[in-house]
Amino acid sequence: MKKVLIFGGTHGNEWTGIWLVKKYGEYFKQKYPDLSLEFIIANPEAYKLNKRFKDEDLNRAFQFLNESRPGSFEHQRARELRNQILSEECFVIDLHTTTSAMGKTLILTDYNPLVLWLARQIQTKIADSRIIGSPDPNKKYLASQVVSSLMIEVGPVANGVLDPHALEGTFELVDRLLLSLSTAPELPSGEIEVYVEVEDVKYPLDKEGQISAYIHSGFQGKDFTKIDGSYIPFRHFSGEEVTYKTLGPRYPIFINEAAYYPQHLAYTLCEKRVMTF
Ligand SMILES: [Zn+2]
Repeated sequence: MKKVLIFGGTHGNEWTGIWLVKKYGEYFKQKYPDLSLEFIIANPEAYKLNKRFKDEDLNRAFQFLNESRPGSFEHQRARELRNQILSEECFVIDLHTTTSAMGKTLILTDYNPLVLWLARQIQTKIADSRIIGSPDPNKKYLASQVVSSLMIEVGPVANGVLDPHALEGTFELVDRLLLSLSTAPELPSGEIEVYVEVEDVKYPLDKEGQISAYIHSGFQGKDFTKIDGSYIPFRHFSGEEVTYKTLGPRYPIFINEAAYYPQHLAYTLCEKRVMTF
């Protein structure tokens, strides 16, 4: 029997995954009796606080497991979750949402044939879905603990909100993934288009280290819109526009994600690549 672990609430203020885990676990278990499904709230302490995390970001904590961090709830929780994930062969689905207008996306951290085949199923069956490649050499993400894994990222949705589009979009992705997992071929092969992350772009900063510009109104919500050459991502608070240039076609994602302000991260640029498997 194929075991699948579905995690919601890795970030405690992303309610879509939390409520999917709480309310639809039994439904999916009955619908897919050939799969062994477990639905898990990854960060219950952060959920109680309705915050992204309590002491540190759980979805970055897995890279620090060889350190001693006695004061961190997430450090201890990452250790528990890693043990749980590695205890038996399984597939991992980790549910997230974003404040960026990214629609229904899958994020892959490993390009093995099963994961690429599943992504291809989603791309084929769900018209407005997109596939993102986010290599994770330090294995900082929960989903990177095994290669048979992916993240679901749906938006735009505000944190701490149960948005119907995000909930139903995530439900549709989970349902289609479980159906595909229950019918996956032994040796999957094919071809798929992936938006691979290539560059993080930060906000312009002033002398005090504060942001000196905000996302331009013409750039807000333009996730996955092709840029080739000059574009205007920011406007300074003084009114002046900021023009940047790409060397070749790029596709922005995570434009104005709320959780990335502490790192001054404004958006990420991707390249579109075709992968064969
Ligand atoms: Zn998240």
